[in-house]
Amino acid sequence: MIDACSLEKTPMLTVSDALERIRMAIPVINGEEIITLKTALGRVLAEDVYSAINIPHERNSAMDGYAFISEDAADTQPLTLQLIGISWAGKPFQGQLQRGQCVRIFTGAVLPAQADSVIMQEHIQRDGEQIHFPANTNIHQNVRAIGEDVAQDSLLCVQGKKLTAVDLALLATAGVGTVNVYRRLNIAIFSTGDELAALGHPLSTGQIYDSNRYLLIGLLNDPCFHVTDLGVIRDNKQALSDAFTTAANNHDVIISTGGASVGDADYVKEVLTECGHINFWKLAIKPGKPLTFGNIGACYFFGLPGNPVSAQVTFQQIVAPALQQFTGTAMTRPLQLSAICTSVLKKSAGRQEFQRGILRNEHGKLFVDSAGHQGSNILSALSVANCYIVLSSDCQGVDVGDKVIVEPFSVFL
Ligand code: AMP
Ligand code: MG
Repeated sequence: MIDACSLEKTPMLTVSDALERIRMAIPVINGEEIITLKTALGRVLAEDVYSAINIPHERNSAMDGYAFISEDAADTQPLTLQLIGISWAGKPFQGQLQRGQCVRIFTGAVLPAQADSVIMQEHIQRDGEQIHFPANTNIHQNVRAIGEDVAQDSLLCVQGKKLTAVDLALLATAGVGTVNVYRRLNIAIFSTGDELAALGHPLSTGQIYDSNRYLLIGLLNDPCFHVTDLGVIRDNKQALSDAFTTAANNHDVIISTGGASVGDADYVKEVLTECGHINFWKLAIKPGKPLTFGNIGACYFFGLPGNPVSAQVTFQQIVAPALQQFTGTAMTRPLQLSAICTSVLKKSAGRQEFQRGILRNEHGKLFVDSAGHQGSNILSALSVANCYIVLSSDCQGVDVGDKVIVEPFSVFL
């Protein structure tokens, strides 16, 4: 069976061809700002950050125990050392340690200058100030060396890194209080369609509620984006043209949904051809064939299909990596895994498909079921899905027990 779309004349791009075009077309956003570390989660570093200090910057203990000089335990016999003081985290021992002596020490406390070993408190016996060490006491243990985590002047985080909670902790450990990040992208979104009604109004005949803007607002929830919701634009060429050209003046990106195919009321491509430049407008995927990408001056636009599932698939496959590149971080591709399919899946040859699936993990083996109705308007199946089942363009269906490729929405199942 041949998919009707494969008979169309204009070539349809694969996801990787489309991403390659985007890679060539979209630069890294121009503009940087210095922000405090507390507000930097999810922002993208505009420069390499180096550590001004060694981490740890002093030798300290990895355990609660007793610090001693290794020569005292050089032979394998039990030994007894004289306790002469305490080193607390934040309150180091001030005296001089001599051979035959030891210091009570706690995790994170600075080692006395002469000490080079710590024995765990569980391994000794205490008798007043006499500390009895067992035979075969290990030396040079439980000591955190200067710079063992990060050496002074070495790279902490690289330009283009999207900062995680761990990165914030790493930068804080090095005393970094502010970071230079790329500015946020200004993104305008709108829906198109005469049938779209706003929430809070009862539906008249022929109307549906606009769900795509809620989808987009959710998908664009990222500290690197500042999103402006321009509402619904009617199926009218002038209104669309005005919306695109006005939004292009003060936004870096415009994302619209609907009106993207070739129906009589689908003006997006026509309008963008007049007021901007279209790079491509058709993808060899299902759902999500009519995706328009191009620019109006310095503003990039993505005209997504109106069907909500198609909008989500094209956003995740194409728009999300494009925005990654624009924000200054490297484009990433979704994790793909192999799973055993436990449903029969229908598919025609022609386009790569992103069917919605429910992935489950049984003792380290992955199985995937169809999430149900695969129509591109079926939000309920998308809502219960936790992965895409990615079927290649030449696949002509899947039987129970076949191996398939899945892209999980999250690494937690
Ligand atoms: P279009 O791309 O405008 O031809 O729309 C394709 C399908 O998606 C139609 O059934 C539309 O009613 C539906 N649709 C378009 N925009 C939206 C939207 N914002 N929310 C929900 N459905 C939409
Ligand atoms: Mg429409």
